[in-house]
Amino acid sequence: MFGQGLLKGLSVTLGRFVESYTEDLRWLFKRYSKVDFRSSSDTRGTFTVQYPEEKLNTPEEFRFVPFLVYDEGENGEKTVRCTSCGICTKACPTQCIWIVRTNDPATGRPVPQPAEFYIDADICMNCGFCAEYCPFDAIKMDHDFAIASYGRNLLDKEKLLKPASYYASIRPKNNAREEAARAEKAAAKAARA
Ligand code: SF4
Ligand code: SF4
Repeated sequence: MFGQGLLKGLSVTLGRFVESYTEDLRWLFKRYSKVDFRSSSDTRGTFTVQYPEEKLNTPEEFRFVPFLVYDEGENGEKTVRCTSCGICTKACPTQCIWIVRTNDPATGRPVPQPAEFYIDADICMNCGFCAEYCPFDAIKMDHDFAIASYGRNLLDKEKLLKPASYYASIRPKNNAREEAARAEKAAAKAARA
């Protein structure tokens, strides 16, 4: 029928409009967390988020400029996972990662640790290739998107380093999957030995 599509579209808009009000009534009676509900796939109606006073939850797979992961020892020592292999620099489409490898001052031979590590956050396009290709789970995509500044956002090693516990807090499912894979690999290695 002529105009059927138009009517269908308008009915969806009307439904959303009505749901915007019924959702508020439901919240009045049930008092659930609006932020959690609006951040979920069950959200209904149209609504305005009063950012920055009100913030929606960040989905686990959200990607922003990467950070470097370090493991924390029992005495608080930091073990940087990065071995300065350089794979992420090759995978990065915008070439915004720079790494300086550490050399043993006595022998001059390379040490698997980055002496310097830079990411130009102004060029990074948040594609996540570096995190995908890193064989050591040493670089991960962050959730912290509020890093705008008037200057150039060139992040050095100190700014990029964050503990593994932070990674586990922002990406619990990914972290659990990777921990399980690591444990499985370690068990297989032990069994071979
Ligand atoms: S972050 Fe990963 S891929 Fe990049 S240099 Fe370090 S270990 Fe290699
Ligand atoms: S997210 Fe993409 S663009 Fe940004 S540093 Fe990683 S590979 Fe490069």
